[in-house]
Amino acid sequence: MLFMSNRIKTLLLGVACTSLLGSTLGCVSSAAPEQASYSNPYATKDVGTLPPIASLTDGVWLKGDLHVHSRHSKESTNNPVAKIIAFSTAVGMDYICITDHDNHVNGDVANNTWADPDFKSDSVLLLYGAEWTTTRGHGNPFSAKPYDHQRLYDVRDQRDTVVGAVKKELGVHLSANHPSGKDHFGYSYDILESIEVWNSVLWSKNANAIMIWDDMLSSGRKLTGRGGSDAHHGVPDTPEQATENSKQATANYVGTPTTWVFATARTAEAVIEALTNGRVSISNNPYAPRVEFFADLDQDGKQDMMMGDNANSTGKPVKFRVQLTGNSVLGASYTINVVKNGNKFGTYQATGTTPIVEFTDTPEMLGRSYYRVVVEGPPTDYPEVPNSMQLSENMVGLSNPIFFNFDPNF
Ligand SMILES: [Zn+2]
Ligand SMILES: [Zn+2]
Repeated sequence: MLFMSNRIKTLLLGVACTSLLGSTLGCVSSAAPEQASYSNPYATKDVGTLPPIASLTDGVWLKGDLHVHSRHSKESTNNPVAKIIAFSTAVGMDYICITDHDNHVNGDVANNTWADPDFKSDSVLLLYGAEWTTTRGHGNPFSAKPYDHQRLYDVRDQRDTVVGAVKKELGVHLSANHPSGKDHFGYSYDILESIEVWNSVLWSKNANAIMIWDDMLSSGRKLTGRGGSDAHHGVPDTPEQATENSKQATANYVGTPTTWVFATARTAEAVIEALTNGRVSISNNPYAPRVEFFADLDQDGKQDMMMGDNANSTGKPVKFRVQLTGNSVLGASYTINVVKNGNKFGTYQATGTTPIVEFTDTPEMLGRSYYRVVVEGPPTDYPEVPNSMQLSENMVGLSNPIFFNFDPNF
C-alpha cells in the first residue's frame, strides 16, 4: 500500500524515537525521574516566520543519475568509467555521480574511481561520491569536490552520533539508498539530506521506500526524495565479453530513473544545493516529461513556491499547479495523483502538449502539511535502453513535496 495508516505511522515514530541517539534523551530514558520534562520532538509547534522562498525563475533544470556503478565495483561488468560518461553525454545528462562500493576498495575511492584516468568530462558535471557499503546498510554521500571518504568508511560500524559528526565535518550531502530490503538504511534518518525513493527501472519495487519517505515527512523531516538507477552492467563491446548480467544493461542503465534538479547555476555545487533543498523531481527516463509542482499562495495567478519550498500557512486557500514539461506522448492522458500528508488527496487527468492540472486546498493553520504528486501514463520511448519501458510500466514521474509549517531546525 502506498498510503500510510496511523498504525504504521505510530510504529515508525516509535522506531525513530529509539534510534535518535543523543537527541531524544526523554525517549531513551523513559524510566528516569525527569520524565516530566519530556517533550515530543515530533509535536507540532509554532515555527515562527519562515525564510522567504528563493526565485522560481533564476535557475536551470538539470538532469542526472545519482547511483551508478563502474568497473571499480567488483560485481560490475562491462562498465568502465569512460563508457558511463560517454553514454551520459549521448543521452543529454547534465550531471552524474558514479557511486562505487567503497568496501571493494577498503574506503579508498579517491585512489580508484576518482583517480581513474577516464574520470573527466567537458559536458557532464561529475559529482564525487561512493556507495557507503556497510553491514547496517547502504548510503550515498554526494559532494561537489573530493572529500576524505576514507573517514566515513572508517566509522561505518560506530554509533550514529559519530557517523553524523564525521559527515558534518566532511560537509557532504548524505542520502539513504534503497531504504527497504536487504541492504536497507539502518542508521538514523537525522543524519540524512535525501532518500532514494525510486531505485532502478523496477518502479513497483519501491512501494516500501515511498512508505518510509511519507513517514519521515510526516514526522517533520524535510527529506528530499531522489532517484538512482543502481546500474552495474554495461553493454559488452564484443559478444565474447557478455555475462549472465549483460541483459540488465538494455533494461536498467543510466537514466532509469532520471533525477531533475532546479539549480541556481550549471555547477556541481548548485546541483547538490538543489538536491538538499528538494527542488527535485524524478522521471522514468531522460526523455520523459518532467514533473513540475508549484503553489500560488495568494491566488494572483503568479506561482510563489515550487516543490521543496516551505512556507507559513496563512489559513487561506492555496492554488496548486502540476505541469508536465518536455516530451509528452502525443494524444496521451496522464493521471496525476496528489498525496497530502501521506494520504490520497485527489486524482486528476491531464492532456495536451504541456499537460497542466490545478487544484485548491487550504493547508492547516496549525501543524505541518505537505503535498506531493505521482504521475502515471504511457511510457516515453528510451531507445538507448530499449527494454526499460516495459519494466517501468505506466510510471512517468514523481515530485518532491511542497511544505507548510515545517520546522527548518528539525
Ligand atoms: Zn546498495
Ligand atoms: Zn548500488
